[in-house]
Amino acid sequence: MLEVVAALASARRCPCDCHATLTLDERVAGIRAIYRLDDALRGWGYLPTYEIHGDVLWREAQQRNDATYRGVAVRFGECIYRRLLGSLLHECIHAVCGDVNEANYGVLFGLPYAVPKEVPEKDEETFLDPFNFAEARAWLGVGLVGQTMFGLDWDLRTAREVGTYCFVGGNALVPGIAGYRSVAHIDRQHHPARYATRASAIQERARVWFDSGNTMADVIRQIDEASARGAKRRARAHADPLLVAKTPPKKTSGNDPCICGSRSKFNLCCATQSSAPSAQALSR
Ligand SMILES: [Zn+2]
Ligand SMILES: [Zn+2]
Ligand SMILES: [Zn+2]
Repeated sequence: MLEVVAALASARRCPCDCHATLTLDERVAGIRAIYRLDDALRGWGYLPTYEIHGDVLWREAQQRNDATYRGVAVRFGECIYRRLLGSLLHECIHAVCGDVNEANYGVLFGLPYAVPKEVPEKDEETFLDPFNFAEARAWLGVGLVGQTMFGLDWDLRTAREVGTYCFVGGNALVPGIAGYRSVAHIDRQHHPARYATRASAIQERARVWFDSGNTMADVIRQIDEASARGAKRRARAHADPLLVAKTPPKKTSGNDPCICGSRSKFNLCCATQSSAPSAQALSR
């Protein structure tokens, strides 16, 4: 498994061109934040996965319905600052809102587009609501927590351009894993307007949650506590944030793993299609 420093050192130029568009101070702050969140996930007993095909590994665990899997895919494309950091924050908010004693924060692997077969059809929406609400908080919280916790006022991104929700009531179907039944749902590609309406409503619920009482302070305290535990277990210090922030992106070589996360070599994958990563790779 790659350590965080390997991902930072091997990163190639990202589509958002973070290295050039953020100042050195902003990049240093970003690297420090990445370290804190890496420690936090480890403090909860998860293993942030820096392999560029971490999402493939997660999907394999999902197919196996592997309740012992502790990997968390955090790397989608080569971006360190906006996207790796955004993904780490997203996952830390999931951890705060979920059950860290379980794989996938206690969210069943078959969700969101399928539910366990024993759930009656009339209960699908209620069954999926906690999943949707957790996803809305993790989605909306990236910017809010990033700003409050680290003072980052630049745009942080996650792997997707919209949150992943399963809204019952459409006709889209995705094959489920063993023991699960597919849920007919409103799909963000095929029903964009209906999806966007439902998504903004649940994100509004998430905003109210973040704004209420001590929620924000509580979220940050839990991340900090996990981070302190993770830091204690770490064998060596993280690499100097200033040195990392000064390191320019590497040039893409054909033998490097492909930027789309397919697990193929770049010259056997996206390099043969075009010189840029595919639109699909960027919007996952
Ligand atoms: Zn970037
Ligand atoms: Zn999520
Ligand atoms: Zn590729």
